[in-house]
Amino acid sequence: AKSGGRDMVSFYAPEIDLLVQQRQTLEHHLRHALERGELHLHYQPRVDTQTLDVVGAEVLLRWQHPDLGAVQPGRFIPLAEETGLIRPIGMWVLREACMRLAAWEAEGRSAIDISVNLSAAQLTDPALLDGLRQCLRDSGCNPGRLELEITESHLMDNASAAEAQLIALKTLGVKLSIDDFGTGYSSLAYLKRFPIDKLKIDQSFVHDLLTDPTDLAIIRAIIALGHNLGLVVVAEGVEEGQEARQLRYLGCDELQGFHFARPMPLDAFLTWMSQHKPF
Ligand code: C2E
Ligand code: CA
Ligand code: CA
Ligand code: CA
Repeated sequence: AKSGGRDMVSFYAPEIDLLVQQRQTLEHHLRHALERGELHLHYQPRVDTQTLDVVGAEVLLRWQHPDLGAVQPGRFIPLAEETGLIRPIGMWVLREACMRLAAWEAEGRSAIDISVNLSAAQLTDPALLDGLRQCLRDSGCNPGRLELEITESHLMDNASAAEAQLIALKTLGVKLSIDDFGTGYSSLAYLKRFPIDKLKIDQSFVHDLLTDPTDLAIIRAIIALGHNLGLVVVAEGVEEGQEARQLRYLGCDELQGFHFARPMPLDAFLTWMSQHKPF
């Protein structure tokens, strides 16, 4: 061991090295995940609160690596964002979503929206608009069936740039929704200016809705705010029937969560839909 103060450094260094190494390995694998066909999409249904009809599906990225196994989105998505890999990966997701919409329309299943998550690195990508326009054109899907979910914190990080980008995206005819609503710090003035269609109440408020009066009050307030601004309000993370009933009573428009279905591969999603009986 080295002497003096440098002991501290050599004591911690191996652990840091290991973390850096793990990260570099993961990044290396992620760089190839797309071309190697290791990325997949899962679909999670969203239902109409009143009728329980399926009105849409959110696509969620999954990464299955031959050696590492299933890598959690919470691990690889932040990495993809930091490295910029989220741009090509995100464009692939958009393309897949548009193709799926077009296929459903061709099958006469034209009442289901698909929502896609967009991260900040994508929102600020000057190539996003042209890329998305191309996906819409190539697939021939109805742009009004595609919904882009952007988290509140991403939007507020640079609200005026985000505003310009949202306005541009809106000209393509897609729907826009603010994800994880209530966890960031929205300026209400921006909420009014952003050309958005939906608010998605963050699941942290939904989890304890039945027991925590503060969460209940926040949900009520978000629903009232959303409706007063003419927006559709969605609750995600609905895990219990009683939560779904409460949200219906509160006037929330759409529901998503494990109570209805978990995110599933396409085949399982289609089977689930064919068996889903609203009443
Ligand atoms: P998110 O957009 O807020 O997605 C909702 C997350 O909640 C998903 O986690 C989903 O599986 C989970 N979830 C759904 N219903 C319930 C429920 O009832 N209870 C609980 N406890 N969880 C529920 P997932 O799939 O692990 O995704 C995590 C995050 O990764 C997403 O959060 C999103 O921010 C990001 N992400 C996923 N796919 C994409 C993508 O294609 N592009 C980008 N940019 N981000 C993505
Ligand atoms: Ca989302
Ligand atoms: Ca969310
Ligand atoms: Ca709960």
